[in-house]
Amino acid sequence: MAELKKIGVLTSGGDSPGMNAAVRAVVKTALYHDLKVDGIYRGYNGMVNDMIEPLDKHSVQNIIALGGTILKSARCPEFRTYEGRKQAFDNVKRHNIDALILIGGDGTFAGGKVFMEEFGVPVLGLPGTIDNDLYGTDYTIGYDTAVNTVVSAIDKLRDTAHSHDRLFIVEVMGRDAGFIALRSGIASGAKKILVPETKTHIKELMDRLQQGISDKETSAIVIVSEGDDFGGAMEVKKVVSEKFPEYGVRVTILGHLQRGGSPSAYDRILASGLGYQAVLGLLDGKKGAMVGSVNRKIVFTPFDKTIKHHDKINLELKNIAEILSL
Ligand code: ADP
Repeated sequence: MAELKKIGVLTSGGDSPGMNAAVRAVVKTALYHDLKVDGIYRGYNGMVNDMIEPLDKHSVQNIIALGGTILKSARCPEFRTYEGRKQAFDNVKRHNIDALILIGGDGTFAGGKVFMEEFGVPVLGLPGTIDNDLYGTDYTIGYDTAVNTVVSAIDKLRDTAHSHDRLFIVEVMGRDAGFIALRSGIASGAKKILVPETKTHIKELMDRLQQGISDKETSAIVIVSEGDDFGGAMEVKKVVSEKFPEYGVRVTILGHLQRGGSPSAYDRILASGLGYQAVLGLLDGKKGAMVGSVNRKIVFTPFDKTIKHHDKINLELKNIAEILSL
């Protein structure tokens, strides 16, 4: 690679709390090593359509506590075509960007991998998604905040559930993965957690609720991942309401609430460490990999692996949740 003088950084795919802390860490570490940084706005759109501006110390002041991303994020269909990526490369060259740091999910890394192979620009990725489903890191940036957001929402719902003898079915994000459901379910004492990774047997849920009624429990919380095979919270509500008309069943779909908000201390620290390591990685000649933290060690996992494998939920946690909700 040509001598590294300037890094381009972008955030892409779904936003997640802590992306700003990662951008800040990239900028500050780069400046410390006498490197320049350009911010690329709106994900790959900024590369394709030349929305690229220099970032300095002042650009990242007071952003560590901000949710969302100051660089904005977007999907970019043009980047899926060679012509779009060639246009992006021309802009990268024009701005004298020598290497890229991409903060996003596996779609973002898939794009980065093709771009790197076609045009030879070194690329590293940082795991920015609330879903925590990326292979190569124990935690993704934003996941801890999302779980905390869900738990604080459920704590509030529980007040009403308890006061009015209600059953709340809470739908949380996770199209393919039950990470958010599982941890927030344990932290909020949910009666049952339905996740996409395991087949949902609705009879088991009914039995569990029936047992609660027999035990004179008057309220309960059930958590459903949006990608559960039985369907979302509305489908679950239908069958539960028919079977237990005595419960006033209510549905809450937390939706995009889960993507926003000020990042937790954990996410800020994770994002700061990974952003710092990404710059050191580029200086060290690393490329084509996602920087993650596994067992508290920094690991560079080739994009190939992060794209093909999804991290698996810990099914033991599901057993713990089941037992503790009895
Ligand atoms: P995430 O990074 O959160 O998984 P997406 O899957 O939406 O988000 O991907 C973000 C962007 O990455 C897409 O809008 C597209 O521009 C780019 N991208 C995704 N997959 C590919 C691919 N196979 N080839 C080229 N670009 C891709």
